This record gives sequence, C-alpha cells and structure tokens, in this order.
Amino acid sequence: MIHVAVNGYGVIGRRVADAVSLQPDMKLEGVVKVKPDYKARLAGMKYPLYALDDKGLKSFENAGLSPAGTLTDLLKNADIVVDACPGGVGAKNKEIYERFGKRAVFQGGEKHEVAGFSFVAQCNFNQARGRKFVRVVSCNTTGLCRTLDTLEQKFGLEKVRVVITRRATDPDDPSKGPIDSIVLDPVELPSHHGPDVNTVLPNVNIFTMALMVPCTHMHIHSVIATLKEKNVTEDKVIKTFEEAPRIMLVSSSEGFNSTSQVVDFSREMLRPRNDLYEVVLWRDSFKVIGNELFFYMGIHQEAIVIPENVDAIRALDGGYTKEDSMKLTNKTLGIAH
Ligand code: NAD
Repeated sequence: MIHVAVNGYGVIGRRVADAVSLQPDMKLEGVVKVKPDYKARLAGMKYPLYALDDKGLKSFENAGLSPAGTLTDLLKNADIVVDACPGGVGAKNKEIYERFGKRAVFQGGEKHEVAGFSFVAQCNFNQARGRKFVRVVSCNTTGLCRTLDTLEQKFGLEKVRVVITRRATDPDDPSKGPIDSIVLDPVELPSHHGPDVNTVLPNVNIFTMALMVPCTHMHIHSVIATLKEKNVTEDKVIKTFEEAPRIMLVSSSEGFNSTSQVVDFSREMLRPRNDLYEVVLWRDSFKVIGNELFFYMGIHQEAIVIPENVDAIRALDGGYTKEDSMKLTNKTLGIAH
C-alpha cells in the first residue's frame, strides 16, 4: 500500500482524493483544508480531515468539525503527498515535505523548478520513477503533451502552432471575469503553454497564443501541426488517435458542435462531477494540407490531470511500470484505454 496525503482540497485536491481512494494499491490517509467551510464539512464526511496548523485546528473545532490533527500529523502517516494548493503555495510547502522526508507531487501552477521534473504519464513515467518530486503539468499542457507525443511518435513533428481559447474560471468560483470581453491572455506572445510543453517534450518546436472567454467549462485548442512524414491522410491520423491513450474522439455528425454538447455528454456518463479525463478531439476537424495537420481539441480543465496525479504517485513509489500504472488508473477511473 502507498500511503497518500492530499494537501489542499479545492478543484484538483478533492478529485485527486477521490481517485486515490479508488486505487487498490493506495490508502488515502487524509486531506488538509485551510478554512472550515462547506468543502471541509464534505471532506470530513468522506475522509480523515486535517487542519493546516494549530490555529486552523481551533477554527475547525469552533465550527463543529472534528479534525484528526494538523498537516504535520498527517505527514507522519504518509509516504507521498499530493500538493494541490493554489499556484505558488506548493513551492513554499516543499520545505515542510523535505523536513519530513516525504516525496511529493506538485501541480501545474508551480514552476518547473519546484520539482525539477514535469510529468505526463505517457511521455515520461519511466524517467520519473523513484524521484523525490514531480510536477503534474497544467490541464492545457497535459492535453498538448498527450496529442503531440502521439503525433511525434507516429509521424514526427516539424513544428506546432496553437491558439488556445480558455475558460475564464472554474464553475465554483464567481470572483473572476471577464463578463463581456475576450481577453488576450497574455498580449505579449507566446503564451506560457508552449514553453511549458517543452518542460516535458523538449524537442517539440511549439508556439502558443491564448484568449480568455467568459465561460467556466473547458478549453478549446485550435492546432496546426507540421508533420515530418509526407502524404499523411486524415484517416491515418484518426486511426492513430483512436489507438492513443486517454483520448476521446467525437464528431459533429453525432451533434458535438461545441463544448456544451461535450459537457452534456459527460454529465450522462455517470462519472463523478461530469469529469472527462480524456482529451477530446473532433474527428471531422482533422484536415491535412500538404504536410500541415489542422484540428480542434477540447480539455476539461478540472479533470484531465487527475489520472496523471495517480500515475505520478506510482512513479514516485518506483515499483511500477508505466503500462501497469496507466492500465490500473484507467480501469479504476473508467477510462477506456
Ligand atoms: P483551488 O483554489 O480550487 O484549491 C486550492 C485549495 O488549497 C483551496 O481549498 C485552498 O483553500 C487550499 N489552500 C490554500 N493555501 C493552502 C495551504 N497553505 N495549505 C493547504 N491548503 C491550502 O485551486 P485548484 O484549481 O485546485 O488548483 C490547485 C493547483 O492545480 C494549482 O497549481 C493549479 O494551477 C493546478 N491546476 C488547476 C486546474 C484547474 O482548472 N482548476 C487544472 C489543472 C491544474
């Protein structure tokens, strides 16, 4: 059994906690919350709930919650910590994990240097085995790495150009805009996504731009990839993606014309919280002109990194092959392949 702690119980942390608790080879020792809000109450109904520190412990008790202790108590019981705190907080937490001699999985809001290793299971599981720290890259970078690694392995990639249309915020956060605008995110190019892909796939020549739009579900990538192999057909590309891991193909003939239908479909799949762990690719968007390949890709920002977190835990443990870990993660989360 791998004993796991989850520090930070927001959008990512609560999904990671649920996914870890489904693994036959892992035991979730508990989760850490800062505030005694409704999320803390819900966490305490499912898992041992820990406060951040003694002050937090008091505020939990005053709110009628029964915390099992503080972060440092939890760390004593854990082999590996998944840090799911807001970007930048993980970097500060690293010192605590080091002090307790714990391995840790950080998230994409941290800089690559915090862990010194950026992780996407299909790309670099084996190089992560036995390390002390890894960083599961952000949702957009995970989606790009899965698809670009697949294209690179099969056809070779000369260069990739991507325009990302980003959701503005997550569904549980009403504090951010825009309300009636399309934000150039950022104005100065490139966006951070291309350089972030290079932390996992250093040889891919990639340039990215991003726009932020007023919605809360999913990102859409408009991808133009120049392939090394000549005379690649659309059918060959589709077949390649059909066989690739953690990818779901949809088409407009089935009624998928926007993120709305994808979200509606995922609601009916009976997965927790409508989560889509797969990259969504539109079959009928694939177009090849010369050796340029065009396509649309959708990312469920809240869910796509969850299987990667589970695999990252096994990679740090060191006792698994990439194939065994990904297979087990897929089976437990209901991912077809
Ligand atoms: P979130 O704000 O939803 O959750 C963070 C949680 O950590 C909150 O519950 C907060 O109260 C808690 N927290 C704050 N300071 C803490 C501390 N010192 N110790 C313990 N807990 C603390 O954030 P999120 O969206 O889950 O993001 C977490 C990480 O995952 C970030 O690095 C982010 O970039 C990355 N990520 C987010 C998404 C997404 O779409 N939300 C997707 C992929 C990756």
